[in-house]
Order: sequence, then C-alpha cells, then structure tokens
Amino acid sequence: MIRCIGCGVQIQTEDENKIGYAPPAALEKEEIICQRCFRLKHYNVIQDVSLTDDDFLKILHGIGQSDALVVKIVDIFDFNGSWLPGLHRFVGNNPILLVGNKVDLLPKSAKYPKLIQWMKKSAKELGLQPIDVCLISASKGIGMKRVMEAIEQHRSGKDVYVVGCTNVGKSTFINRIIQEVTGERSVITTSYFLGTTLDIIEIPLDDGAAIYDTPGIINHHQMAHFVDKKDLKTITPKREIHPKVYQLNERQTLFFGGLARLDYIKGGRRSFVCYFANELLIHRTKLENADELYEKQRGELLQPPKKNYVDEFPPLVSHSFTIKEPKTDIVFSGLGWVTCNEPGAQIVAYVPKGVNVLIRKSLI
Ligand code: GDP
Repeated sequence: MIRCIGCGVQIQTEDENKIGYAPPAALEKEEIICQRCFRLKHYNVIQDVSLTDDDFLKILHGIGQSDALVVKIVDIFDFNGSWLPGLHRFVGNNPILLVGNKVDLLPKSAKYPKLIQWMKKSAKELGLQPIDVCLISASKGIGMKRVMEAIEQHRSGKDVYVVGCTNVGKSTFINRIIQEVTGERSVITTSYFLGTTLDIIEIPLDDGAAIYDTPGIINHHQMAHFVDKKDLKTITPKREIHPKVYQLNERQTLFFGGLARLDYIKGGRRSFVCYFANELLIHRTKLENADELYEKQRGELLQPPKKNYVDEFPPLVSHSFTIKEPKTDIVFSGLGWVTCNEPGAQIVAYVPKGVNVLIRKSLI
C-alpha cells in the first residue's frame, strides 16, 4: 500500500475527485504526495494548514471527544517549527505526553535534565501543560524504553493517539513501537476515523485498547518546503551537530548558505554560536558588502539553494531584534539557530518569505 508523505492517506490513481488521488506519473517518484497535499503545498504556502485542514481538525475534535492519552511528537532540532499550535484546545481534557525526537542531533554536552526542563518551560509558554516530557531518538532507539513506560503509565488502559507534523519522525517512532510492542508488523490495521476521509493506522494493544497513528500535518512555515530534495539533505542534520563559534565585530554578516542571513549591527565584539547541520556552509562578510555578495553569489558560493533553483526561491525578508536576555537563541525555523550569550546585541535576521524566525531562551 502506498501512502501520501503529506497526510498519510492511501494513494489511488482512479478518481481525481476522491481522497488520496495522485496522477499515475506521480507513482514513479520516490516520495509520493497526494494531489490535495500537493496543492496545499504549492499554491497555498502561507496558509496555516493546522487550522484549515478539515480532516485534521475533525481528527483533533474526535480525540477531544474520546478518553485517551495524546502523545505529541516534536522535532527537538525544530522545536517551534514542529510544534502544532493550538493542539491543547482540541484534545479536551485528555493528558498530553510531550515527546522530543531526534535528540541524537544535539551536542553531547547538552544535558537531559536541562533539556527536559527547557521543554517543559517552553511548552508552558506555548499554552500546554504536558503530563510528562520525554526525549528520544526514534531512529537510534534512544529513550524508547522510558517513553514506552511513560505511555503505559499515563494511558491507564486507554487508547493512545500519536500526533505530530510531518517530518518529526512520527513514522520512525511508530515503527519502533510496533517492533517493541508486538515484535512483528502484521498486527497493524487501518481504520477510518469517524467523520473524516483519512484512514489512520491502528496498533492493537493486549488490553483491547490501541495506539492510533494520526496523519502528519504539513507545517508550511518549515524551511523544508522551500528547498528541493537534495538541498533538504544538506540542511537536515543527520549526525550530532558541532556548533561553530564566530567572534563578530559590529557590522558583520553571516550567511547560512543562501538560505538565511544574520547581520550583527551593534553591541561590541562578541561571540555567536551557530547550530546548523554540519554540512551547511557559513560565510562571514562585512555588512556593507552583504547585499552585493548575495546578489552575485547566491546559488554559487552561497548555496543551497542551487543555481537552477535560485529564481524560484522566495526573497529573504528581514526581522530586527534587540537581544535583551542572556543566553538567547535566534531561531531560523527548520534550519537551525544562533546563540547569543550576553544581552545587548542588535541584530537583523533574514529568512525566506514564509519561514519563521524567532527569539527564545537558549535550548543548550
Ligand atoms: P514523519 O513524517 O513524522 O512520519 O517522519 P519520518 O519518520 O518519516 O522521519 C522524517 C525524517 O526524520 C527521516 O529522514 C528520518 O530518518 C528522520 N528521523 C526520524 N527519527 C529520527 C531521529 O531520532 N534522529 C534523527 N537524526 N533523524 C530522525
């Protein structure tokens, strides 16, 4: 069975008006996306799908009406970008277990208790009070025992719904669970969620309850939607990130490939710690040369995006910040972040139009 990488729906090529339709030619691609997700992705990029996608909303409402444990997965490398805002409004009184995936990407120096504290605090600021917080690497199998115990403890015999936006590693997580819970793959069934056209994966548990894998929702603010597949490989970290430290003078600029840019305007000489995929090239220049360099070198020295993709790439837009707190991250959603240790820096961050940039208390 082939599933859409966007929403998880079963792909069909017969009826264009029915859910899951993809043109037959699309089946030749490595990753298949249904026409609906394709349209959402390409023609509606700025719309916040988590609030407009009917089926997704119905699923969330459905969860709110059932008595269940909700397991919410976020990508710890793209915490804010993968957050799924507003979830708590839909899931009713059901407890939420917050799971940060891809912990293997963070430097070894990052300590678990501190990371968990940070997640709890950030969740609270975003309006969510999780019953528990776990850190895992679904692909490396780190923390799986602990998260399984937490699920077992908090579900107390009830069903479990796993939610998360695309690319957080939900499928990898579910596959691990299936392996560990059942030891085999054949027990998975799919079922329609009441009132929606999307089907979801059901993993039956011994006591008659089940774990439900809900379709992942596309988050259009993610950088991933603005680069092609090869470039996505460059910007998606696969191994532990080695932070790069830059001592910057006032009026110096850092380019992160051709995808983002940080201008350091004012605040004396200071260090900036950059957390990006190790493969992403960081280029330093003088602020006065930055515009011209970008014009001339994007797609060349400054890539990704690659040369043949430069014209389709959205323009960079600027966001100005004054760093007021010590240990602050400037986050380029889905790409990485820069930590500024002392307050008082004036900076301007540039990201492609449609991608979020924000300031937060340092993760590490
Ligand atoms: P889904 O869209 O949420 O179902 O995500 P997938 O399970 O398809 O994973 C998305 C990407 O993240 C894939 O490239 C996975 O290999 C990768 N991934 C999943 N789990 C981990 C993890 O624990 N660590 C790292 N570094 N990558 C992961």
